[in-house]
Formats: sequence, C-alpha cells, structure tokens
Amino acid sequence: MIPAAFDYAAPASVDEALALLAEHGDDAKIIAGGQSLLPVLRLRLNAPEFVIDLGRIDGLRGVREDGDSLVIGAMTTHTAVANDPLVAQHAALVGKAVATVADAQVRNLGTFGGALAHADPAGDVGAPALALGAQFVIAGQGGSTRTVEASDFFVDLFETAIGEDELLTEVRIPKHTGWGGHYEKFVRIAQQWSIVAVAAAVRTDGDSIAEARVALTNMGSTPLRATAVEQALQGQPATEDAVRAAVVAVADGTNPPSDLNGDGDYRKHLAEVLTRRAILTAAAG
Ligand SMILES: Cc1cc2nc3c(=O)[nH]c(=O)nc-3n(C[C@H](O)[C@H](O)[C@H](O)COP(=O)(O)OP(=O)(O)OC[C@H]3O[C@@H](n4cnc5c(N)ncnc54)[C@H](O)[C@@H]3O)c2cc1C
Repeated sequence: MIPAAFDYAAPASVDEALALLAEHGDDAKIIAGGQSLLPVLRLRLNAPEFVIDLGRIDGLRGVREDGDSLVIGAMTTHTAVANDPLVAQHAALVGKAVATVADAQVRNLGTFGGALAHADPAGDVGAPALALGAQFVIAGQGGSTRTVEASDFFVDLFETAIGEDELLTEVRIPKHTGWGGHYEKFVRIAQQWSIVAVAAAVRTDGDSIAEARVALTNMGSTPLRATAVEQALQGQPATEDAVRAAVVAVADGTNPPSDLNGDGDYRKHLAEVLTRRAILTAAAG
C-alpha cells in the first residue's frame, strides 16, 4: 500500500530536527532507517503530516570510545555496529545480537537508535543494551540533553523514555572488555523476529564465572534483566550442570506473550534452555 501524503524535511543538524519537531508537534514523525516506520505508514497504521529524516545528520553516525564507554551514534546501521572492531572488543554481545537482526538488506538500512526507539518487545537490540547497562543520551528543546539509564528507558510495549519533542542521539555502553558475549535467539524460520532470545555477557576467572549479565527478549512488554540469575551464576564453575542449576528460575516473574509461535509457558521453558546455552557459549569466549 502507499502511505498517506506527508511533507518531508531532511535537516542537517540535531538542532534543526528538534526545531521541526517543536514546530509540527504531534503531526511530526522522525524517520531513521525506515525499516519499522515505513511498513507502519504503508499499512496506514500511522499517518503523520510531517516526516523528519535524520539521514543527513552525519554526527549521529559511528562508533567511538569515550573513556570507559563505547559510544554508538543513533543513526549507526546494524551492519556497521555488527562489523565494528571497537564493538567486538568492548561489547561483543552487542555485535553478535545485531548480527541476528532480520536480513542483510534490513541491517544495511535499519539503525541502532531506531530499533531502540521503536522498542518492539521482540526486537534484538534492547536486551543486549539492557544487559550491559547502556545509557541513552536524549536531546531535547532549548539545547538540553539528558541521559537515561537502560533500566528506565524501556517503559512499555513500543514505548520508551524519549519524549515527543526529543531525539535519541547516542547510546553509551560501559566497556566490557575481555567479557565473552552471546545472543541466543530462538526462531522457527531464518530471519524471523525472536520468539524468545537471551543476551548474555560473562567474565570468567579461570574455569569459573566471575560476573554475568543476562537480559531476555520477548518475555514481557519490555526487555527484562535477569538479576537473580546473574547473582546465582557468580562464582559458579562454567559447567553444564552448574549453569543449569543457576538459571532454573530465569522465567520467574516474567509475562511472555502467547501467540501462534507458542504460548507463555512454552516461552518460559525456552527462556531457561536458551539462558543456559547463552551463558555457556559466552563463558567459552
Ligand atoms: C522484514 C523485517 C524484519 C525485521 N526483523 C527484525 C529482527 O529480527 N530483529 C529486530 O530487532 N528488528 C527487526 N526488524 C526491525 C529493524 O531492526 C529496524 O531497523 C528497527 O526496528 C528500526 O530501525 P530504523 O532505523 O529502521 O527506524 P525507523 O523505522 O526509521 O523508526 C522506528 C521508530 O523509531 C523512531 N525513531 C527512529 N530514530 C529515532 C531517534 N534517533 N530518536 C527518536 N525516535 C526515533 C521513529 O520515529 C519510529 O517511530 C525488521 C524489520 C523488517 C522490515
């Protein structure tokens, strides 16, 4: 289908984009890679009168280091993140997770920030960002900037802490240098959205798990951090039996959806199996 008619602007700076947002209010919509927004417009589930394209703002692209953090610009494509050597070195989990998003075409256009702002509970970018304790830098009106912790960023289904007159500009991820990372994604067919997935990062000390970070995809309306499991894993040997015992309660307190891919109980079972696999793979480096 063809989207409803809209006016379009491609500003060259964040300030210009914010001014357009302020001017057009509820009638405006940001477009990044368009991989989620364009289907919505084509199906006429949304019909903004004004579309603001961030594609010309070069400063929103790229990966850089800033002290103990890795900074990923909101407009950095999934492909660029997946192939970035700094990401591989300091946030291996993130690189592995974005490499599982859709297919090469979608990854070449879809952006790291767009996926996070879209906040689809089955999306593969939120859980790794939550697991590694990312911080979200949001630019607002009048030159203001605020930083939101991952634990506060995901509010509900398709809802984040980004206000209607604000923009996500970059995501700061504390470096996890030397940590193993793995994203275990369960799908029935290739290139599908996650039925359930588990993001895991592990720091080992010899044969033991010194620290672990775990978050779940599609086990509720937002990505969920599995802090009880993280604590249970601490100090355990990185063996099948020990990890199996430590992750047994990973689905406690979750509220996964039931749909044609499986009901909630099936997803809870999957979460346990996938967490074990994710931890063991991450621990192996
Ligand atoms: C066929 C197909 C399969 C897919 N499969 C997967 C999958 O398996 N896993 C997965 O994780 N994703 C999947 N996706 C989605 C893909 O990852 C998208 O790239 C992502 O969801 C949105 O990123 P985008 O840059 O295209 O954002 P857009 O579609 O341009 O925007 C998405 C939303 O975010 C808002 N937005 C974008 N950028 C900003 C910003 N900087 N500040 C504030 N708001 C902003 C927009 O206004 C819009 O509401 C799939 C998409 C398609 C088309």
